[in-house]
Parts: sequence; C-alpha cells; structure tokens
Amino acid sequence: MRSVAALAALVWLASAVPARAAWIERTDAIMGTRIYVQLWDEDRAHGEAAIDAVMEEMRRIDALMSHYKPDSQLSRINAHANQEAVPVDKELFDLIKLSTYYSQITDGAFDITYASVGYLYDYPKHVHPSEAQIRDALPAVNWRNMLLDEAHHSVRFEHPGMRIDLGGIGKGYAVDRGIDLLKARGIVHAVVTAGGDSRILGDHLGRPWLVAIRHPDDPRKVVTRIPLSDTAMSTSGDYERYFDEDGVRYHHIIDPRTGHSASKVRSATILAPTATQTDGMSKTAFVLGPERALEIINRMPDFDAVFVCPDGRVLYSKGLRPPTPRETPTGASPGGSP
Ligand code: ADP
Ligand code: MG
Repeated sequence: MRSVAALAALVWLASAVPARAAWIERTDAIMGTRIYVQLWDEDRAHGEAAIDAVMEEMRRIDALMSHYKPDSQLSRINAHANQEAVPVDKELFDLIKLSTYYSQITDGAFDITYASVGYLYDYPKHVHPSEAQIRDALPAVNWRNMLLDEAHHSVRFEHPGMRIDLGGIGKGYAVDRGIDLLKARGIVHAVVTAGGDSRILGDHLGRPWLVAIRHPDDPRKVVTRIPLSDTAMSTSGDYERYFDEDGVRYHHIIDPRTGHSASKVRSATILAPTATQTDGMSKTAFVLGPERALEIINRMPDFDAVFVCPDGRVLYSKGLRPPTPRETPTGASPGGSP
C-alpha cells in the first residue's frame, strides 16, 4: 500500500513540477532538404509541440509550392499557365510576385523562370542539357513574361515553354513562417534552418550565436565565423548540388542569361532581417560576380554579404569590414597625443 502511495506522490510531483528548462532540437527531412530547429523552452512538452508546429508548416508549404509534387499549386501553374491564367492561393501568388521584386533589384540574376531551362538538369543523375537544348529553352527564361493578375491571384505565361520553380526563395520563406510560429508561442531563443537558409531568433542566452561559413572544398574547414543574433542568413554554394564532368562543375545555380551554371563565386552568404530576403539575394553574386553584387548589397540597408571567390579571396560588404585604422600623421607617435 505504502509503495503505491509513494508512487502516486512521485507521479504528482512529476506533473506539478515543470520539466527543467532546456535547449530542445530536432532534424527532419522536408522540402528535399534538412530542416533543423533548436529552441529554448522552460517546458519541454511546450517546446516539442512548437517544433511539431514548425515541421507541420514546412510540410504545408512544400505541398503548396513544390515543383516536384505533381498535385501542388505550383505544378498546376507549370502545367496550365501556357494556355490560361491559373488562379492560386494568395500566399503562393504573393511569393511569386515577391520573387519578381528580387529579379528587378538583381538585374534579372534571380529569376524563377530560370526553371524553363533548369528542369533539363538532373544533378544526382549527372544529366545536363546540350548546347542545342539550352538554345531552344532559353528564350522562355524571362520573368517579365509572367503575367501576374493581382485581382484574381492568377499567373499566366506569355511565352511557350515557360516554367517556374521557387527553389531559390521557398526555403527562406518557410524559415520565416517557422520563426513566426515560434514567436506566437512565446519562444524567444531559437534557430530554424532549411538547407542553406537560417534565421536566428534572439540570442544564445546572453551571447550571440556563432555561425560558421564553410570552405567550399572542405566541409570541415571554416572560412570565417560570424556572431549573430536576431538575423537571417543564407549561404548558396556550388558544392551543394553538383557533379563534375570534363573539368566543368554543373551545379544548381543557373545564370538566366546563359542557361549554364553560374560560377563567378564559390559561395555567397547574405545576412538580413528575414530569410526570405537573404534567400532572394544569395544567388546574385554567382550570376553578376562579387563586385557588382557588393555594389547592390552595399546600397541595401540591413543587408550584408560574405563572398568566397574562385581564387580563394573572401570579400565582405561594408557593414562587416573592420574599420580601417586612421592614418598616423607623419612624425607623430601612434597612439600618442599631439
Ligand atoms: P538551397 O536550396 O540550399 O536554399 P539556394 O538558396 O542556393 O540553395 O538555392 C538554389 C536553388 O535556387 C536551386 O536549386 C534552384 O531551385 C533555384 N535557382 C537556381 N538558379 C536560380 C536563379 N538564377 N534564380 C532563381 N532561382 C534559382
Ligand atoms: Mg536557399
């Protein structure tokens, strides 16, 4: 009898005292990539439920926007928008519209109609299009030939052979939605990652999170580390989805002007308040080159960038560069007062 009473008391104790505050983390495979969530919560069950909600949201977005899923709304656009205007959910319409904003500010380096030629690549199978195939498909790549009807949330393609995919912005968007859900549940310290796109909520209990940028050829080597809090960060790299053939690297970032993989940098990391912003900008330097991309980023308030160039140079945007030391007047001793 006594032992039953003791057990009952223990059960009562366990339910009355909340589980100790802790970092909780989980990894899942959604949207064809690795999703990682880590958060701090006073109550483990509450934290686990918050992670469930983020993963569920990622699955919902994937079902709506994946170009791999034949019954997604995005696949419906690709199947029918050449013949008629295809109405879609406002959420998807808005993201497609937002993608044209990134096309505008990047001189067309970011262009979701890249998929009109991009679909001819299959990286795991080492398949790339021939020059003739690229020549035939390339005229369909142009975001300006996408007719977006705000009143009906519909999309129509004004060029035969057009296709879109949101692989270059959808994961950033999903990360932002995940962070919104966590905030709504009262979480104040978290990180949500989808492939190369991450967003950090708050800090790491009083200290910034230390985020590493890897070496393009060696995942164990670090090019630089950046302390971050309350920031989003996207890294695009030519080592993520690729194959090499006859000394050429075929990888998943495509120059909309040529239909070939864009190779002006090896990796590009963008920092900004939201992951939709950083994802939308992380392809630019591959296509336009680091100098031109830095000009654009340096004009954008709240944006920073780190580019790793093919020759190994690492370039930083204005906001990340250490201040240049003031010149010492001739004859004066450094640090001494005149
Ligand atoms: P991740 O998928 O890890 O987030 P990126 O952010 O670098 O990687 O996005 C790469 C994806 O962007 C490609 O797999 C493709 O779906 C898409 N993409 C490739 N080239 C372009 C481009 N020029 N404009 C827009 N999207 C692109
Ligand atoms: Mg991305």
